Amino acid sequence: MKKFFDPQRQEWEAILERPTKTVEDIEQVVEQIFREVKAGGDAAVKNYSRIFDGFNSDNFEVASEEIANASAGLSEELKTAIGLAKENIRKFHAAQKTGRVTVETVSGVECWQEKRSIQKVGLYIPGGSAPLFSTILMLAVPAQIAGCKEVILCTPPAKDGSVNPAILYAAQVCGIQKIYKVGGIQAIAAMTFGTESIEKVYKIFGPGNQYVTVAKQLATKYNVAIDMPAGPSELLVVADDTADAAFVASDLLSQAEHGADSQVVLVSLSKELLEQVASEIEKQLEELPRKEIARAAIAHSRFIYMSSSEKALELIDKYAPEHFIICTSNPDFFVDGINNAGSVFIGNYTPESAGDYASGTNHTLPTNGYARQYSGVNLDSFTKAITFQKISSEGIQTIGPAIELMAEAEGLQAHKNAVALRLKKLKTLNNE
Ligand code: NAD
Repeated sequence: MKKFFDPQRQEWEAILERPTKTVEDIEQVVEQIFREVKAGGDAAVKNYSRIFDGFNSDNFEVASEEIANASAGLSEELKTAIGLAKENIRKFHAAQKTGRVTVETVSGVECWQEKRSIQKVGLYIPGGSAPLFSTILMLAVPAQIAGCKEVILCTPPAKDGSVNPAILYAAQVCGIQKIYKVGGIQAIAAMTFGTESIEKVYKIFGPGNQYVTVAKQLATKYNVAIDMPAGPSELLVVADDTADAAFVASDLLSQAEHGADSQVVLVSLSKELLEQVASEIEKQLEELPRKEIARAAIAHSRFIYMSSSEKALELIDKYAPEHFIICTSNPDFFVDGINNAGSVFIGNYTPESAGDYASGTNHTLPTNGYARQYSGVNLDSFTKAITFQKISSEGIQTIGPAIELMAEAEGLQAHKNAVALRLKKLKTLNNE
C-alpha cells in the first residue's frame, strides 16, 4: 500500500489513478471477437470458449434438469439466506415503481408519461474467479418487477462445462429459464448479434472484468443498450478516530479479494487510525483463503491522510468511488456533500458486504469514475419512459400558431402544414 500525507491538489489525480487497463489496451481483441461472432455465430463462440475458458462444446444451453437439480447441491441455510436477500432486494426495487405522470400543459393539451419494460434483456453473471450468484438476484429481481418478457443469462462455465449450482439455483428462484454457459467477450458479442442458439437482446446488464466491460461498451455501437460500465470493484472508506480499525480493514479487504485489479482507498482524518488500519490489514490478510488476490490489490491501495473533512470530501468527490463507506463523527457532512458515488454506506455497522448481498440495494454499480454520470442498476434500468399526448380542437387552436411560427423559423414547411391544415379545417367548421 502507498501512504500519502495531506497531498497537494495537483497530486490527487496521479495518486488516485485506477489500476485498470484502458479501453484502448483491450479494444483490439474485443473488436476481433465481435467481428468473428457476428460472422460465424455459434462456431466463433465455441472457438473462444475453448481458448479462454477451456470449454469445448457445441451446446451452450444449460439443460432444464440441471437447473432443477441445482437445489439439491445447496444447504438449506444457504437457500434460506438467498431467500432473505431476494426478498429485501424485491422490497427495495418494488418501491421504486413510479406511476403515470399526467399534466394538462394548457387547456386541451394532455401529456403523460408511462414506464414500459424493456422486452428482451441479457444478464451477464461473472464466474471467472468467483461464482457471483448474488448478482443474479440484483439483476433478475428488478427485471421481473419491471415486467421484462425475455430474460436470458450468460455465465462462464468451468472447463468441464459445469456451472456452479448456486448460480443455477438463484436463476431458478428468479424464474430464469434460459441459461447459457458462455463467458467473457464472446458472451457479450453473442447477446449483441444473436447466434444460432443465443438470442439477441435489447439491453445487456451485469458486471464483469475488463474484457466484459469493454465488450459491453462496444455493444452500444450495435444498437444494444447497456446498464453501465461496471468493471473491477472499488471501495473508498473515509474514517476518523471514531472508526473501528478492524472493521475498516475488513471492509477494504472485502473489495480487495475480488481481484488483483480491484482498488481500495482509505481516506483517514487521523494519522493514528491510518497506521492501525494498515497493521490490521496485515493481520486479517493472512487468514483469507483468497489472500494472494487480496494482497495484489492491497499492494496498489492508497492510504491518504487528510487534515480536514472539507479537503477529504473534495478529493473523494473527484475520485467518484463505486462504493463509499463513511465512518466518521460527522457522517452527514459527507452524505450531504457527496455528488459522485455509486452507493454509500454509513456508520460503523454498515459494511459494504451488506449492500453486496442482502440489505436490498443493488450491487451492480458504476466503477472507474463513471459514478460521475451513471447510476447503479435500479428498477428504471429495466424500463423506458414513453410519452403520450392527446390534443383537443381547443388545444391545437391554443398552441398551433406558436408551432407554425417555430416550424417556419426552422425552415420546416411540412411541420407547419401539419398544423395549418388542421387550424384551417377548424376555422371552416367554426364558421359553418
Ligand atoms: P468474468 O466472468 O467477468 O470474466 C471471466 C471471463 O473473462 C472468462 O469467461 C473469459 O472468457 C474472459 N477472459 C479471461 N481472460 C481473458 C483474456 N486474456 N482475453 C479475453 N478474455 C478473457 O469473471 P472475473 O474475471 O472473475 O471478473 C469478475 C469481475 O467483476 C471482477 O473484476 C469484480 O471486481 C467485478 N465485479 C464488479 C461489480 C460491479 O458492480 N462493478 C460487481 C461484482 C463484481
